[in-house]
Amino acid sequence: MALEALKEAVRKITRSATVDKALVEEIVKDIQRALIKADVNVRHVKEISDAIKKRALSEEVLEGLNPREHIIKIVYEELLKGIGEGLEIPLKKSKIMLVGLQGSGKTTTTAKLAKYFKDKGLRTAVVCADTWRPAAYDQLKQLAENYGIAFYGERESKDAVKIVENALKKLKDYDMIIIDTAGRHALEKELIDEMIEIAKVANPDYKLLVLDAAIGQLASKQAKAFHEAIGIDGIIITKFDGTAKGGGALSAAREIGIPIAFIGTGEKVEDFERFDPAGFVSRLLGMGDIKALIEKVERVAKQEELDPEKFLKGTFTLKDIYKQIEAMQKMGPIKKIFELLPFGFGLKVDDNIMEMTQEKMKKFKVIMDSMTEEELLNPKIIDSSRIRRIAIGSGTTPQDVKELLRYYRTMKNVMKKMKKLEKGKLPLKFKK
Ligand code: GDP
Repeated sequence: MALEALKEAVRKITRSATVDKALVEEIVKDIQRALIKADVNVRHVKEISDAIKKRALSEEVLEGLNPREHIIKIVYEELLKGIGEGLEIPLKKSKIMLVGLQGSGKTTTTAKLAKYFKDKGLRTAVVCADTWRPAAYDQLKQLAENYGIAFYGERESKDAVKIVENALKKLKDYDMIIIDTAGRHALEKELIDEMIEIAKVANPDYKLLVLDAAIGQLASKQAKAFHEAIGIDGIIITKFDGTAKGGGALSAAREIGIPIAFIGTGEKVEDFERFDPAGFVSRLLGMGDIKALIEKVERVAKQEELDPEKFLKGTFTLKDIYKQIEAMQKMGPIKKIFELLPFGFGLKVDDNIMEMTQEKMKKFKVIMDSMTEEELLNPKIIDSSRIRRIAIGSGTTPQDVKELLRYYRTMKNVMKKMKKLEKGKLPLKFKK
């Protein structure tokens, strides 16, 4: 995205020797330029930049912050206000209907969504109700098969409403049903009628509009038209990776007051993420969501007497994993924490490793209880004969012990990366 320039604006603030009116004005101009280049609606750009300027020049610096951090905090908060809401779809039995114009990325997104929910443990199925585009059936079927997702479609049928009706009868046992509907090149009456009929039969919990980020500000007209026609609960922005105009779709969502649920960041089924406004803005500004992470760590640390400084900076041993597992029971699953980390974090983490069930936590603790102090502090020495001994001692299997060690190595890697990010001297103290 062209929003790279926002990071540069933040860098400019952190590098400046003094913070004065001239700097504020320069930064506000930089931000304006970046937002306009990203195709954000001009009215929004003005609202955001006016607010930043006004606050930066009038508000007193909060205790505990230096003037630079103060300005970055204001930029962060105003961008966050400007970006609108995110939509979190709860993990429970639901039906989702996707709508959008042809080529927006609906079919691909159907598969992405299905994989997302399947990975979260829901029994997920997809339905091809796109009888307009001949290849849609095969495309979705293939994608579903690749990811072990249940598929329903009727290749020869032209009756999308009937297909959905049949699908729902067949898919009663599934938690999450995602319906891919047909698009057209424009929002024509025929398409609207079909969407309304499908929605009547499917009674979806969420009607999500798939919007192509590349269309920039045209997204606004499109989103409005769909919303008026059938009522939209959320937006999925696709092709965020390939365009400098992503701001247009963000603007559109805010303009019609509809939350953004997900964004597509590539052609692959894995290139997909839940839209989290705070994390998103943090990443735009180049600081990741270390803020939320640090806050969480601090909060939990207080309860667990876990030293956050040490947690992030010290040598990371299995003893820390032990404490971490206890902390995690309060903090929530580690995957959630991962979702807060910045875009370019570059860590590909195996889902199985990160899936930390209560049962697994207990098992890991038992295994660690069977280790010697030396092994806990220096896990490198744990070779296969030690693994066998630990497994026997803890009543587990060598595979279990290896899994713990894999988990430890992954976490160690994360901590290393976090240290690097922190060294980037980005403002971490966003105290309210
Ligand atoms: P549909 O007509 O709305 O069902 O669109 P498709 O799902 O067939 O997608 C149209 C094209 O957009 C395909 O070539 C997809 O690979 C591509 N596409 C979909 N989502 C994304 C995305 O997030 N990023 C990129 N780069 N391409 C995407």
